Amino acid sequence: MQILKSISALRSTLAAARKKNKTIGFVPTMGAFHEGHLSLMRACRKQNDIVVVSIFVNPTQFGAGEDFTSYPRDKKNDCLLAKKENLDIIFYPSEKSIYPDRTLTYIDVDKIAGTLCGASRPGHFRGVATVVGKLLNIVAPDTLYLGQKDAQQCAVIQQMVRDLNFPVKVKILPTKREPDGLAISSRNKYLSAQQRREAPVLYQSLCLAKKAIRNRQKSSTKINLLIQKTISKKSSGKVDYIACVDANTLQPLKTIKGKTLITLAVRFGRTRLIDNIIVTDV
Ligand code: AMP
Repeated sequence: MQILKSISALRSTLAAARKKNKTIGFVPTMGAFHEGHLSLMRACRKQNDIVVVSIFVNPTQFGAGEDFTSYPRDKKNDCLLAKKENLDIIFYPSEKSIYPDRTLTYIDVDKIAGTLCGASRPGHFRGVATVVGKLLNIVAPDTLYLGQKDAQQCAVIQQMVRDLNFPVKVKILPTKREPDGLAISSRNKYLSAQQRREAPVLYQSLCLAKKAIRNRQKSSTKINLLIQKTISKKSSGKVDYIACVDANTLQPLKTIKGKTLITLAVRFGRTRLIDNIIVTDV
């Protein structure tokens, strides 16, 4: 496994692989690897000749007062875990190489970036789209691997890939969960013991919503209420948003129909957790 820091070294290594007709799979991450990241790497390993994983805590997707400086960073452990997954390349760029002085170009994905998480984290998806766009230009993979856990991120990136004609296939893999259902996240370690005990209520409430839809409840207001009540009854979590939206366009649905994304963000103290589930209309 090679750890490459420079864009030019990465590009020349990958150019040589491409010349030999090798397929390249790419998993962008912010490091602090957990089972969610590893599941993407495993899928990428199975389906490609060369696996590239980037580790870059992207400053432009953090707002003022968010956890950019305290975001968990553990290069040594990440490299150990990555080695076990038999990756070919870890791309570990510096902030200066991704954002040299006088960076003036950013990617804004209209409409779907401003809702849901984008409403309470202004500029977040601009940062995400920009860094993923830059990384796609640098790595030029055949296939990009993303996790369903970050559903809005998936929608934003898919839209960007379509709109800007990036020649890449996007694969979205299911959310990895703890045995009690809590979606695995680098931020779970910020939770107190009590908050950690309460946090599985997010997935429980989504499962209850899915069951209600299966039992023909089609009103998104009622579904939202069911989730809200379940969360407030069983936890101290403060809801940021709960929404039933079209899974592709992220536009709100009054009546559940087609492929629906039920998505939420809830704060436990200073820690904001997100989760979602996709329901197909019955
Ligand atoms: P991050 O390091 O948080 O930016 O995540 C890197 C990639 O891992 C993104 O595509 C995430 O959606 C994905 N990911 C994060 N958590 C999970 C999870 N629990 N299950 C599956 N994929 C995940």
